[in-house]
Amino acid sequence: MKDLKNWGILLEEIPPEGLKIEFQNIDDLGEDLNIKQPFSGYFKLKKLGIEVKLEGFLKGVVILECDRCLISYEFPIEHEFNIDIKPLASLNLEGEKELSEEEMEVSFYENSWISFYDLLKEEIFLNLPYKHLCKPDCKGLCPLCGANLNENSCNCKGYKKESPFSILKEIFSDKNLEKGG
Ligand SMILES: [Zn+2]
Ligand SMILES: [Zn+2]
Repeated sequence: MKDLKNWGILLEEIPPEGLKIEFQNIDDLGEDLNIKQPFSGYFKLKKLGIEVKLEGFLKGVVILECDRCLISYEFPIEHEFNIDIKPLASLNLEGEKELSEEEMEVSFYENSWISFYDLLKEEIFLNLPYKHLCKPDCKGLCPLCGANLNENSCNCKGYKKESPFSILKEIFSDKNLEKGG
């Protein structure tokens, strides 16, 4: 698995009838991806002139760090995709119009080389959430004492929620205003 960065195919090597590449046990895609369960799946390639239509599937589990409580959690990915792979040289010719068209993903190859390593990585990253949360309602860490508020509440009063009203509510409840709220 050490030469995964060189994993790919030359345009000329794709036969007219197309090609299916199956892969499995991919557990190293660089330092920026922490892979818990190795990726498996396939790429189906079909050459159309200088373009390649790719139909693919991938499955695996990565480990992400929660943006709020910093805990590591597993994030399973199972994804089907279709990519139009075009020569990099066509990028300037077509401009932005073509790129934003439809939902078809577009990728580019350079010097006839189609990198499966890059394609796989790209697809995985596209499937990672913008915000990494261990659960949708993660309470995060207390900004004062650093306690993980999902596991236990701390005694740092007065720094609860971002809403000023919740702070007001707290002040009132501290004064034991039993009626009227
Ligand atoms: Zn969290
Ligand atoms: Zn605290």
